[in-house]
Amino acid sequence: MSLDHYRQKRDFQLSPEPRGGERGAAVLKPKLQFVIQKHRATQLHYDFRLEFNGVLLSWAVPKGPSLDPSVKRLAMQVEDHPLEYAGFEGVIPEGEYGGGTVMVWDRGYWAPEVRDVARALEKGDLKFILHGKKLRGSWVLVRTRGYGGGREGRSWLLIKHRDQYASTADIVTEKPRSVISRRLLAQIARDEGGNVAKAATGDPETPRPSVAKVPTRKPSGRAKS
Ligand code: MN
Repeated sequence: MSLDHYRQKRDFQLSPEPRGGERGAAVLKPKLQFVIQKHRATQLHYDFRLEFNGVLLSWAVPKGPSLDPSVKRLAMQVEDHPLEYAGFEGVIPEGEYGGGTVMVWDRGYWAPEVRDVARALEKGDLKFILHGKKLRGSWVLVRTRGYGGGREGRSWLLIKHRDQYASTADIVTEKPRSVISRRLLAQIARDEGGNVAKAATGDPETPRPSVAKVPTRKPSGRAKS
């Protein structure tokens, strides 16, 4: 695994995304991080990233995760990302690779439920526990065959296992805000100079008020100019 593909796709003079250092020093860390970034690019999707061997293994999940064990969500494996990417929330300029607004939708730690993660990835069946703010409990990523149109080996399914955290609640609609800033996509776009109207199409139509209220400008309060 290397960050070559990640870097080839991006111009770091133009995009605020992290370039990533040299392969993370092989320091034994007590916990492996995971992040899910909601990304309003050409298509809205959720980037699911698991730290492994000094990089973030990454899958793009068009519909986002489901807490319902009977629901399988397509997850297309994409290029590894640098560990620093887990903290990235902001705007990738339009016209650049992945141009659009990025939100840290969930973040925390993960633990494999298998001894040998590399082998599980090779086999295409990785079971793990998530300790996030929104997602918890046991999950699995299973590689599929012939599903996802010709991109052999890149197509996986993300599925919740049955446990106390399984639910039929629609987590992506019910919890649409950033776990690091409490912002919606439109607010991130507004704050960071992005395309607010495009970002807003990724937010629920009637967002629930968050616990920590973020002031939003009402349309009626906007000064004429
Ligand atoms: Mn993405």
